[in-house]
Amino acid sequence: MADYNVIVIGAGPAGYVAAIRCAQLGMKTACIEKWTNDSGKQILGGTCLNVGCIPSKALLDSSHHYYFMKKHAAEHGILFDNLHADVAAMQKRKGEVVTALTQGIAGLFKKNKIDSVEGLAKLLPGKQIEITAYDGSKKTLSADNIIIATGSIPVTIPPAQVDNQYILDSTGALAIDAVPAKLGVIGAGAIGLELGSVWCRLGSQVTVLEALPDFLAVADRKIAAAAQKELKTQGLDIRLSAKVTGTEIKDGQVVVNYEDKNGAQQIIVNKLIVAVGRKPFSEGLGAAEIGIKINERGFIEVDANRQTAVPGIYAIGDVIGGPMLAHKGSEEGVMVAERLAGQKSEMHYDIMPWVIYTHPEVAWVGKTEQQLKAEGVEYNVGQFPFMASGRARAHGDTSGMIRLLADKKTDQILGVHIFGISASELLAEAVLAMECQASSEDLARTIHAHPTLAEAMHEAALGADGRMIHA
Ligand code: FAD
Ligand code: NAD
Repeated sequence: MADYNVIVIGAGPAGYVAAIRCAQLGMKTACIEKWTNDSGKQILGGTCLNVGCIPSKALLDSSHHYYFMKKHAAEHGILFDNLHADVAAMQKRKGEVVTALTQGIAGLFKKNKIDSVEGLAKLLPGKQIEITAYDGSKKTLSADNIIIATGSIPVTIPPAQVDNQYILDSTGALAIDAVPAKLGVIGAGAIGLELGSVWCRLGSQVTVLEALPDFLAVADRKIAAAAQKELKTQGLDIRLSAKVTGTEIKDGQVVVNYEDKNGAQQIIVNKLIVAVGRKPFSEGLGAAEIGIKINERGFIEVDANRQTAVPGIYAIGDVIGGPMLAHKGSEEGVMVAERLAGQKSEMHYDIMPWVIYTHPEVAWVGKTEQQLKAEGVEYNVGQFPFMASGRARAHGDTSGMIRLLADKKTDQILGVHIFGISASELLAEAVLAMECQASSEDLARTIHAHPTLAEAMHEAALGADGRMIHA
C-alpha cells in the first residue's frame, strides 16, 4: 500500500490548492516543497506568494498611495508638507504581507491534515519520490497518484545577464532598496509594466524597451492605446521595436545598447530589470527519466485529464504551459483533484481573466475585437468611458473605458475589455456573465447599485444595443 493517496510536488498556487482540494475530498495527501529561508525553514506559496503576485501588489499599492498623495491629494483638499517615500518601510510591509499569507497556507495545510514535507522531490519509477531535505537527509515516499506543480522561473537573455545587483530579474526588482534615479526595463509585459510603474511612481525615470512593434499586442487595440497614452503621462517612456543587443556595467551604471527602426541606440541606467517572460521549471525532478514527456520548450506534456505520459502522474500550473497565471494553476489543481475523486470537473480556458495591475488597471476576458474580425464573427460593441461615471468622477479617477463585445446575432457576450479604475474587480462580473453564457441584454437588465463603478459595465452592456443612458 502506498504512503499517500496523493502527493503534490510544489506548494505554489497550483500545488497548494490541489493539495487542499484532494484533502477536502478525503484523500490522504502530502505536499512536498523545497523553498526554505536561510535557516532551512520551509516556506509555502511558491512564486506567487513569495516573489510574484503578492509582493508586487504590495509594492504597487504602497507606491500608488505615494503617487496619489503627490499628484492628486490636493484635488481632494488634502494638503501636507514633507511628503517622502520610505522604501525600507515599504519593503518591510511587503515582507509582512508575504509572511502572513505564506504562514496562512501552513495553517490551511494543518487544518486539512495535509502533511507538508520539506525538500527537493525527485521522481523514481513506480510512483516513488525521493526527497532531499535542506539538511541533506533523504527519504522516499510513495503515492497512488502524484501531481507535479513545480512552476516556472524567469527567462534570461544573453545580452543582459542577470547579476541581481545592476541587472535584475523580477525577484531582484522586488527587492530594490532605494529608488534608482534611472531605471531600464526590458519587456513591456505584465512584469515590466507593473514593476516599472512601482519605481516610476516613486520617482525613477523609467525607460521600457519592448521588442514587439505593438504595445500589449495581446490586448484589445483601443484598450492598449488608451493604456499606453496614460502610462506615458505617468512618466513611463515605452520604446517599441527595441531589440537589446548588449549591456555593460560601467562606472556603477548599466549601459544598454539596443536597435530600433532608426538604428543603434543607447540608454544608461542605474538598474536594469529583465522581464521577458518565464519558462517551466522541472530541474532535478527526474521527470523525463521515468518516461514523462517534456516538449521542446521544457513544458510537461499532459492530456485532457492533465495526466502525463505516465499513468497516475498529473501536472498543473506554469510547468504545463498555457497562461502563466496563478488562478489558472489553482483551477487546474481543483480540476485534477475532483477528477481523481471521480467528479467530471471542467475548466474553460477561453474564459480566463487577465489583469495587468498598472494604474488604472488593464483587464480582459474573452475575445478581442481584432480576434473577432479575424474569425469573421459579426459583433456589437458597447463602449462606456469612465469619464461619464459618477463614481469614477467622485474618485477623481476617470481615465479609460469598458468595451463589451457581443455576438450580433445571438447577443452572447464574447469579450469584455477594461482600462480603468478597479478594472480587476469589475472584470469578475464579466467573467461570471461569460461562464453563464449571458447576453449583453442579461447584463443590461441586471440592476446595478448607484453610484458604483459597476454601473459602467451596465452601461457598456446597454451600449451593445445602442441604448446607453449616460454617454
Ligand atoms: P510556482 O508558484 O512557481 O510554484 C512552484 C513551487 O514548486 C515552488 O514553490 C518551487 O519551490 C516548488 N518546486 C519546484 N520544483 C520542486 C521540486 N522538485 N521539489 C519540491 N518543490 C519544488 N500571476 C497572476 O495570476 N497574477 C499576478 O498578479 C501575477 N503577478 C506576478 C508577478 C511576478 C513578479 C511574477 C514573477 C509572477 C506573477 N504571476 C502572477 C505569475 C504567477 O506567480 C504564476 O503563474 C504562479 O505562481 C504559478 O503557480 P505554480 O503553482 O504553477 O508555480
Ligand atoms: P510577458 O510574456 O507578460 O511579457 C514579456 C514581454 O517582453 C513581451 O511583451 C515580449 O514581447 C517582450 N520581450 C521578449 N523578449 C524580449 C527582448 N529580448 N527584448 C525586449 N522585449 C522582449 O512576461 P513577463 O512580464 O516576464 O511575465 C512572466 C509571466 O508572469 C507572464 O506569463 C505573466 O502572465 C505572468 N505575470 C502575470 C501578472 C499578472 O497577471 N498581472 C503579473 C506579472 C507576471
